[in-house]
Amino acid sequence: MQIVSRPSLNYDSRPKTAPIDMLVIHYTDMETAEEALDLLCSPASKVSSHYLISENGHIYRLVEEENRAWHAGVSFWKGRTKLNDYSIGIELANPGHRCGYKDFPQKQIDALIQLSHGIMSRHHIPPYHVVAHSDIAPDRKKDPGEKFPWKILAQHNIGFWPSKKLEVMVPHTIEVFLVQQMLSRIGYHVPMHGMYDPGTKLVIEAFQRHFCPHKVHGIIDPETYRQLVRVADEIDGQE
Ligand SMILES: [Zn+2]
Repeated sequence: MQIVSRPSLNYDSRPKTAPIDMLVIHYTDMETAEEALDLLCSPASKVSSHYLISENGHIYRLVEEENRAWHAGVSFWKGRTKLNDYSIGIELANPGHRCGYKDFPQKQIDALIQLSHGIMSRHHIPPYHVVAHSDIAPDRKKDPGEKFPWKILAQHNIGFWPSKKLEVMVPHTIEVFLVQQMLSRIGYHVPMHGMYDPGTKLVIEAFQRHFCPHKVHGIIDPETYRQLVRVADEIDGQE
């Protein structure tokens, strides 16, 4: 695996007490990889990531893993905030929802799998600590989005996908508080007031982008409910 160095100055040091134990997947949201590299390396932008993978699978290193790249922004997962402290960020070149969202090419995914395996083994990152930017910032972000193949990555031990075929009974009336509890158990930052409000809808959309990618509408339909129970049930055993 060849990695091209393309240093960015948009980083600082991690707090001494913060372990590196998460991997966050992004898309660049720009027309070309070259444009994205320019942005991530421009001091004025104040954003970066550790790596960027182009559509044809070329890997660029922008920030050394031990340093804190500025990729996640305001973020939350499993009770922790400021996830730049704990994570490695990988950007995948893709125009994103803004300018013509595309499928992720196989070469790009193959490179991501190789790169992630190295990162995860170096830092002992468990598969369920690999998340989408939209998982940790559902009110601001959609990346890498519903075209990202989480189910395939999980077959390579990257990210979480439920593997048990759990039978789930869907109640006639789905209680919003129960849904919020399950989302929170998985790791999401979600309101816990039992009401279906805009904030809750955004978190359900983030869950769907990751776990029910063919229907992202923010509504708790029976299929979303079943998948939510499966993920919450199985991920609990991973802690
Ligand atoms: Zn992102």
